[in-house]
Amino acid sequence: MPHSAIIRGHTRNARTRPIPLTACPLARYRTGLFEKAGETVAEMVLDRLRELQEADLELRGLQHKKASHDRAAKVQVAQIAKHQEQIEDLRGERLTARVATNEKELNVKQKRADIERLRAQQMQIKDNRQFQALQNEIKFAELAISKIEDDILSDLGDLEAVDTQIAEAEAALAREQQGLEDLKKQIEARKSDVDAEIEARRRRRQEIASALPGKVVDQFTRIADRLDGEALAPVIRQEDGGSFICGGCHMGLTQNTYVILAGHSDNLVACPNCTRILYLPGTGAARLRMDPYGEDA
Ligand SMILES: [Zn+2]
Repeated sequence: MPHSAIIRGHTRNARTRPIPLTACPLARYRTGLFEKAGETVAEMVLDRLRELQEADLELRGLQHKKASHDRAAKVQVAQIAKHQEQIEDLRGERLTARVATNEKELNVKQKRADIERLRAQQMQIKDNRQFQALQNEIKFAELAISKIEDDILSDLGDLEAVDTQIAEAEAALAREQQGLEDLKKQIEARKSDVDAEIEARRRRRQEIASALPGKVVDQFTRIADRLDGEALAPVIRQEDGGSFICGGCHMGLTQNTYVILAGHSDNLVACPNCTRILYLPGTGAARLRMDPYGEDA
């Protein structure tokens, strides 16, 4: 049962059974300082939960920071892979173009050899028409050579352009690699600090949680995981003075919700819409801090 520890604010006869908070470790404060200030057990638990939420949010913030460093490094690695792939493609393109140009150069060589052979044949021929026929063949081969040579020149221009592209991509790759190195150094330098901070917050959170009933902490953690650490919400009195809304999801709450929270009930109340655990602002520790001897006086 997901909300067994907490009364749902929208129903008077909640099917779920509230946890008896008087049996929780906080009950020992009943005869201590808190009782003098008139705080109920539910208020004590809510105070602890507010501390828990604060520690939890700090912990989540740090974990998020750490994860964002790792994400930045991953983005950089992906960028490097993209440049490497681009360079591979360009080199492949260049190789194909070079092979085609080589073939054309070979073709020119063969045609020149053909022309040599045709000229040799011409020297042996006495017949004028045959001589002219060979002459035409030579002309035809020379024309073909001239056309292929134009092609080769254009190819060489293209190759040069690809070389420029490769050089640019290589420079970009070098920059990305340098960037990644710098980022890694930065992450490494900060890593132990962040890890130590995370560990300290984890211990703090554990310390607070250990003073609360396990079921309440489980419930808190489930809501916090779902709502990015915001497991508690204040009950806000609307300007008309008579109606209330949840400070988390801004949905309306029944008068009964307020009555349970304001009365000396030993039950926690959850928002029926977003399931956040509700508290009344200005109660519990907030009220204690109004003590003239308190630090906020
Ligand atoms: Zn809500």
